[in-house]
Parts: sequence; C-alpha cells; structure tokens
Amino acid sequence: MSYEQLEQQLAELHLAAIYDQYVPLAQKAAQSNWSYETYLAYLIDQEAERRTRNRRTRRIKDAKFPLIKELADFDYAAIPQLNKQRVMSLAEGAYLEQAEPVILMGNPGLGKTHIAIGLALIACRQGHRVRFYTVTQLANDLAQAQQEHRLPKFLEKLGRHKLLVLDEFGYVPFSATGAHLLFQCCSALTERVSLIITTNLPFSEWIQVLGDERLTSGLLDRLTFRSHIVEFVGESYRFRQQMPVDGEGR
Ligand code: ADP
Ligand code: MG
Repeated sequence: MSYEQLEQQLAELHLAAIYDQYVPLAQKAAQSNWSYETYLAYLIDQEAERRTRNRRTRRIKDAKFPLIKELADFDYAAIPQLNKQRVMSLAEGAYLEQAEPVILMGNPGLGKTHIAIGLALIACRQGHRVRFYTVTQLANDLAQAQQEHRLPKFLEKLGRHKLLVLDEFGYVPFSATGAHLLFQCCSALTERVSLIITTNLPFSEWIQVLGDERLTSGLLDRLTFRSHIVEFVGESYRFRQQMPVDGEGR
C-alpha cells in the first residue's frame, strides 16, 4: 500500500492526528522497539486526545459567550458575603446531571455574569453543550421562531443543550407574548436542561417584568424546584475598582 493512499484515507476519515503522527511515531516505535499494538495504541491515543480538545473548543465557540470569564479569576475576597463554598460545589457540576436550575441574584456589578460564564465554561470543558443568552435575546429569538412557525423546532434545539445561561432577567420587562414564550420555553426545558439565571430582582418583584400573576407563579414554581439560589450582596466590583486605594476603608 502506498503512503499516498493511506494519507488520502486518513484525510477522508478525518483522522487528522494519526495523519500528522504516524510517521514520527513509527520512528519512535522503531527506536523503542514498540510492538505493533503499542504503536497503534499511541496513534489512537493521539487521535482521541485531539478530538477531546477540539470538542471543548467547539463547545465554547458554540456557547456564544459575550466574554470569557474564568471562575479562577474571580476574587472572592471582594465579595465576602458570597457563599464561596456554594460556588465551588456548583463548579463540580452535579447540578448539570440533575438538570437543576441555578439562580444568581443580586445588584449589578457583583459578578453574577462572571460566575455564570465561569460555571458554563467548566461545563463546556466537560464536553457539554452550552448556550449563553441574555433573557431579552432569548425572548426575541423565541418570538421570531414563533412568527416563522418554527417554535417547536427551536425549543427542541434548545433542549439538546445540557445548560442554558439566561443572563439579566429583570432589566427589561416583557411584552405579554414575550412573557408567555419565556414561560413556555422554561416549561419545556425544566428537568431536562440546566438553567443558570442571573437576575437583579428578588422573586417578589418578578411579576413586574412578567406582568401576569399566574404565569409568574408558574415560572417561579418551575425555576425554584430543586434550585440552587446564590445571593450576591455587597458593593459593585466596578465601582470598587475605580476608588483610589487610599480611599478604602474611609
Ligand atoms: P453582574 O453580572 O453582577 O452585574 P459582572 O459579572 O458583569 O456583574 O461584573 C462586572 C465586572 O466586574 C466584570 O468585568 C467582572 O469580571 C468583574 N467582577 C465582578 N466581581 C468580581 C470579583 N469578585 N472578582 C473579579 N472580577 C469581578
Ligand atoms: Mg450581569
């Protein structure tokens, strides 16, 4: 068999790592007296590793994060009232397997979006399908899908994710249709897809953005069942960063 044919087949079969490695690894195999099986095992291992790496990169790209924020870069000392243990245990990812909602609640600038993205990045690196939306963006996409008579398909597509991040619930009130669609979407996903929701509003004020009492209690019922609620209390991180160092503590 010619190497030309081998390389063509490797390319057709998308075995890129084997394509790159079969010659150098064959030299190494000869030097180190590897068995044929060992050589094959090394090649396959290279391929498997590359695929895992590619999948992680693809998951992060497909999630459409507005920014990359790592959990490791979060300064817990800046927000001592945040339950760090809680965040660390969420990072282990058990909530994903149970499709449990996570609600990050508190005033602007306290790091809710940062933590949401940090947790979602971890999920991507575990190989899970993740998608980031602002709540407004999701409501718009839902409305458009409905207009174009492809809402069921859109919901089914959302349902194929392991985790959806819904950022900034509460900043913009919904139209009646928007609220209804959001409710429908959350109903379709509960107990199947994990949601991380960030919000500046306590539950008692959700009715103000949803506009309908029954719908609000229905949504809260779904979202708070087996949920992890993390409260963010403190002073805006951005604001603190702007303060002169010698102004601290006065
Ligand atoms: P929120 O979503 O609660 O309004 P963000 O997550 O957008 O807040 O945080 C605002 C900015 O401050 C972001 O750039 C974020 O990375 C940063 N930030 C907030 N809190 C912290 C923190 N404790 N450690 C590091 N960066 C932080
Ligand atoms: Mg935010």
